[in-house]
Amino acid sequence: MRLFLFDVDQTLISTGGAGIRALNRAFQKTFAMDNAMDGVLPHGKTDPAIIREIFAARSANDGFSTDLGPVLEAYLGFLREEVETTALYRILPGIVAILELLKKQPNALIGLATGNVETGARIKLERGNLNQYFAFGGFGSDSENRTELVRQGAARAASSSGRSVDPAETYVIGDTPRDIEAGREAGFLTVGVATGTFTKSQLEAAGATFAITDFETDRDYFLASTRIE
Ligand SMILES: [Mg+2]
Repeated sequence: MRLFLFDVDQTLISTGGAGIRALNRAFQKTFAMDNAMDGVLPHGKTDPAIIREIFAARSANDGFSTDLGPVLEAYLGFLREEVETTALYRILPGIVAILELLKKQPNALIGLATGNVETGARIKLERGNLNQYFAFGGFGSDSENRTELVRQGAARAASSSGRSVDPAETYVIGDTPRDIEAGREAGFLTVGVATGTFTKSQLEAAGATFAITDFETDRDYFLASTRIE
């Protein structure tokens, strides 16, 4: 049984910065803090880790609470609004075709491995009608640590399908070096997709099993490399 675990942001979709705007609004509403995301690089980090980073950068001076609950709740409300209204939302090239193809494979399972909390991931995927492909996943709400959430995604593949999943046939697919490092640390194969801010060579340098430009350009190479006909 082959397993494919997909990252969300800049791998399946782009929300045109909706997540960053929603977090800024959440910190503004909860703590009257302006531009909380300034200087924070979100790439490949889990939602809780991003929020903690903001707390760490600011709370020493301002005495903010480090309870993630209120800011996460505000974030999810704003996220729904930002994702629904942005003109910049798009599904990345070749994604629907590859998901359709993998869905029809008798020996393949597809799931998510994303730093988004699950509700956030579902909000982001809903506009593109992509939730239908993902019955399970590992999320930022499972662990603040990306390696752990990748492991969780693979464990859910096994429990939801009732079939055993071989680590040597598990592919973690993402657009940042952090996705690649987490996949490797969890003991899986990794595929870098250069649809975010990182190039194929940067993703290969991070140790990706292989890297592609996008799922449209390199569809056949992806299928051949993962031995899907
Ligand atoms: Mg990403």
